[in-house]
Amino acid sequence: MTPAAFSFAAPGAPAWYACAGCRTAGVKLWRKPHIDVAAWCAACAERAGKMPEGAVGADGCVERSWGRDVQVAGLVPYVPDEEGLGAYGCANIPAAGAAWWRRLPTRPAADVSKGVG
Ligand SMILES: [Zn+2]
Repeated sequence: MTPAAFSFAAPGAPAWYACAGCRTAGVKLWRKPHIDVAAWCAACAERAGKMPEGAVGADGCVERSWGRDVQVAGLVPYVPDEEGLGAYGCANIPAAGAAWWRRLPTRPAADVSKGVG
């Protein structure tokens, strides 16, 4: 879906903020560092990275030898700008955007994707 303007202050995420793999919306998404148009949820990122299911914790991070890491399988947190024009790079995500991303659940409350398809 095409990104449109939204607010970091609003609860949840806009409908277009959905996983390119399984269409799950309303959860944390990750994207390739230089591509804004597609993003994936924790479960799809785990599959893409051949990581065990559940490797991404509730905080949106994976455990590494050096600590908790928000990058999953080479993907970075997808924090769109509020005008719907693009996405912030990892190094310049505004505090409100980072807080918005961290507030989103890592997985849907009821994981209905399991066992479907
Ligand atoms: Zn997904």
